[in-house]
Amino acid sequence: MKCNKCGCLESKVIDSRLNDEGTSIRRRRECLGCGRRFTTYEVI
Ligand SMILES: [Zn+2]
Repeated sequence: MKCNKCGCLESKVIDSRLNDEGTSIRRRRECLGCGRRFTTYEVI
């Protein structure tokens, strides 16, 4: 997952949880390069 602020490829997952339907996972990530936090969705 590439940070769209600094372009760093390294990020750590702060939190991940399944949505109500159980069809996707929402992950909160923090960039290791600049500290920016962002959320990603992954469909199972
Ligand atoms: Zn960054």
